[in-house]
Amino acid sequence: MIEIKNLHKSYPMGKESLHVLKGLNLKIEEGEFVSIMGSSGSGKSTLLNIVGLLDVHDEGDYILNGELIENLNEKKAAVLRNKFLGFVFQSFNLINYKTALENVSLPLYYAGVGRKERQETAMEYLEKVGLGAWANHLPSELSGGQKQRVAIARALVTQPKVILADEPTGALDSTTTDSVMDLLKEINNEGMTVFVITHEEEVAEQSKRIVRLKDGVIISDEKVNQKVKA
Ligand code: ATP
Ligand code: MG
Repeated sequence: MIEIKNLHKSYPMGKESLHVLKGLNLKIEEGEFVSIMGSSGSGKSTLLNIVGLLDVHDEGDYILNGELIENLNEKKAAVLRNKFLGFVFQSFNLINYKTALENVSLPLYYAGVGRKERQETAMEYLEKVGLGAWANHLPSELSGGQKQRVAIARALVTQPKVILADEPTGALDSTTTDSVMDLLKEINNEGMTVFVITHEEEVAEQSKRIVRLKDGVIISDEKVNQKVKA
């Protein structure tokens, strides 16, 4: 699904440049649930942004769903994103003046889906994340965990191949974190590939594989021993 070979990324820093990713190799198969850990500034978001086609790498190869990503322009990136990727962010990124239902249906609007089908599909996904009763509420009327569920429904509504989540539980308390992680696990059990950044060990342990970044390279890549919850 995702294949990265010898990936490098630097940012300009005045006359110098900051070399953030220094030759990463990573392969994520369809249906995996992978978390990326690493200290602040280690390049986790940089990697996720490249995987999410929100930024471009300098060197190396990135192959998404069998397609080598090269000569990426805004339009091509947008087409590939809409086709393959769903995003979830720490700060939810919901539109405040739109209801939960409208937020979830927005990607379908951009995909050119008609109004009736948009509403029905968006409702289906809101129900999936347990928020059918909150369809007509604004984000300001929802708790943090509920907002993140709306954001997950929005990420799922276009039926992507991969969900990319940058600290999805970063703004949530531990109970809400568990419920959001349970939802991601459920989605993964249904076959979705899930790729999560987190700095919380307990969150990473709920995924199936933990990749650790340090100084621009991967220092470990291990399967998680799935603990059975008491
Ligand atoms: P955190 O856990 O704090 O979110 P991170 O691992 O996600 O950290 P990145 O956001 O990938 O780290 O940043 C890696 C390094 O690259 C940092 O030193 C950061 O300041 C720098 N950086 C990130 N984005 C840019 C940018 N657009 N321009 C310049 N430097 C950047
Ligand atoms: Mg980050």
